Amino acid sequence: MTLGGAGRFWPDLAPVLLPTHPVHFVEEITSAQNPLVKLARALERKKARIESGLFLTEGARHVTEGLDNGWQLHALLLSDAATDRDQVRALARQALDHGARVARVPERVLESLTHRDNAQNVIALFRMRLAGLEALAGARRLIALERPRDPGNLGTIIRLADSTGCGGVVILEEGCDPFSVEAVRASMGSVFAVPVVRCGVDAFDAWRRQEGLRLIGTSLEGSVRHTDVDPGARTCILMGNEQSGLPPAMAALCDGLVRLPMAGRADSLNLALATAVTVYEVWRRSGFDGARF
Ligand code: SAM
Repeated sequence: MTLGGAGRFWPDLAPVLLPTHPVHFVEEITSAQNPLVKLARALERKKARIESGLFLTEGARHVTEGLDNGWQLHALLLSDAATDRDQVRALARQALDHGARVARVPERVLESLTHRDNAQNVIALFRMRLAGLEALAGARRLIALERPRDPGNLGTIIRLADSTGCGGVVILEEGCDPFSVEAVRASMGSVFAVPVVRCGVDAFDAWRRQEGLRLIGTSLEGSVRHTDVDPGARTCILMGNEQSGLPPAMAALCDGLVRLPMAGRADSLNLALATAVTVYEVWRRSGFDGARF
């Protein structure tokens, strides 16, 4: 059943009607030219994300993670097929409770948003939210990235931070956008769980010293194997940029500079892989605290 037309906004009715009704959709969108669909499509571009303050995420599970972690949902777009699923109907109800717009959209329109055949049946527009350094206070492990360029790497590292109990990810100076479609996709929902901070080097270094975090840099210039460094009780791992590596001035700030052993023809590992190897080694040293097994 559909309550409300394209011009009728739901939330004022929601508290009254929701408990006794199944899912109600404010909008039935049929056109790819609908303003909400156009806004969702525009969020591929950084400029539109900055102007609107919104970003896109795909998939019911990730939308639930966003809501459960207190992220502000702006709108939920559901395919016709998705609305048959109980989980999606419950999600729509939850979204309406949050005051978000909920719209049913033809599959072909959703596919045009994700540029994928068999697109996810659920797409959400959330409000962007970066954390401040204070959100990282007390963390045992952190990852800092110097000007990461590749959003796929950044999203993978955010997922890694989540998987290994790191307290957050710090993007130093300019870096790619953690809310780009590619980064959010690669993070597999972890962008909602891991605080991501953007910060200048000086402010970060002053903060981590005050916090008592040991800074371990990784570099092809490192003189110590990653297995031979003392990570201390609380560690921030510092990774260099994909092209230029860790600048000497930043290497000089580190309490230890490690190199991962390499064989064969490649001279370095991919940024996300090098981060994973290093973080797992530091985590291993603390007995994999917090691990599920
Ligand atoms: N051409 C770059 C350079 O000269 O450093 C390679 C950068 S690498 C793709 C990206 C980052 O991953 C590096 O800055 C470093 O932090 C880390 N990394 C990759 N392989 C590494 C290795 N074998 N030892 C230490 N760090 C490594």
